[in-house]
Amino acid sequence: METDTVLVRYGEIGVKSSKVRQRMEEILRRNVERSIEKRGVNATVEREWSRIVAEGEADDADETAEAAAETFGVSSASPCAVVDGTPETVAESVAELARQEYDRGSFAVDARRAGDADAHPFTSVDIEREAGAAVVEAVGAPVDLDNPDMVFGVEVRGETAYVYADEYDGFGGLPYGTQADVVALVSGGIDSPVAAWRAMRRGCPATVVYVDAGEYGGPAHVARAYETAETLARYVPDELRLWHIDGEEAVERLVDEVGDTRMLSYRRFMLRAAERVAEETDAVGVVTGEAVGQKSSQTSRNLRATDAAVSVPVHRPLLTFDKHEVVKEARRIGTYESAKVDTGCHAVAPSHPETSASLEEVRDAEPDDLLELAEEAAEEATVEVFDGA
Ligand code: ATP
Ligand code: MG
Repeated sequence: METDTVLVRYGEIGVKSSKVRQRMEEILRRNVERSIEKRGVNATVEREWSRIVAEGEADDADETAEAAAETFGVSSASPCAVVDGTPETVAESVAELARQEYDRGSFAVDARRAGDADAHPFTSVDIEREAGAAVVEAVGAPVDLDNPDMVFGVEVRGETAYVYADEYDGFGGLPYGTQADVVALVSGGIDSPVAAWRAMRRGCPATVVYVDAGEYGGPAHVARAYETAETLARYVPDELRLWHIDGEEAVERLVDEVGDTRMLSYRRFMLRAAERVAEETDAVGVVTGEAVGQKSSQTSRNLRATDAAVSVPVHRPLLTFDKHEVVKEARRIGTYESAKVDTGCHAVAPSHPETSASLEEVRDAEPDDLLELAEEAAEEATVEVFDGA
């Protein structure tokens, strides 16, 4: 049986008001289409009731489902056979799918009927029973409704039924582009790419800002940031832009002129530069990878002192994460490998970092023109474009 259609499911959009939902569904449809195209696969992608349906070649269905599942806003995707929505045809089709796909263990049939309940003279339980019996007859597998090794799914809508054996888990979230833009401060380390990804997953298009410490950072540090941007770009429907900002002069002055609060001042420099980029790109927030207490510069008190450098909201998706939770997610999204390279950039770290700085202390110790310098550096940034290919 040909599974040449991919059924794409989404979660949270479904609870929005109908106007918002329609707008978000259309954005999601387009994003799914782009994400399939990006993998060089051909399929037509359409909205149908509360699903998105992609039709292409059966050979590409797994790749299409994977691409759809990796599109923000999608909860899951399944390569399906499309058959008549009568219990008899569904039961035959599920049995045929079982002959193709079943190898061992128990199974269950999970059926759903969408739309007008009166439109069908049968219930989803009727479908499950009839299809279940057909599978038992076809392959002799035992039924286990509580903990099946394999699930055959059926979704009936009107006269049509979608029958499937595989379900690719999606990332969830909201479609990219359904929220206003943000700017994400990304170092290429473990935390910041995950933070950027999390904001993107909630629908915020992101412009990446990387601050280059020049000779204090080195080429390996820049290369790592670019590699991260390339990985993040895989998740966006279009391209991802990285603003490469020169922070060498700032670092030099902080190292020469400032003591234990210099890391906090460097964060303030970064935030102010990012705020300037936000103004240029119509972004409404700055995202960082900070987690409360992870480093001395990230104690809850110090975060207050760094935040005061800007008036734009600073979003910290990882604020309450433990490091091992961030590592796990970095592995999953593919940014861990490049992040774990130690680039040896530690120049700004003071030997006795301040953990409880007041804003006054930080301001008094830093060069008066530090934040102005940040704005100038942002204005002179070079912009790199990544397409995730
Ligand atoms: P990361 O947190 O980026 O994975 P890290 O732990 O070495 O790396 P931190 O000292 O935790 O860096 O930096 C705190 C936050 O400041 C980062 O999460 C990131 O948002 C931002 N940041 C740090 N360095 C840079 C940089 N060179 N360019 C852009 N943003 C940076
Ligand atoms: Mg960190």
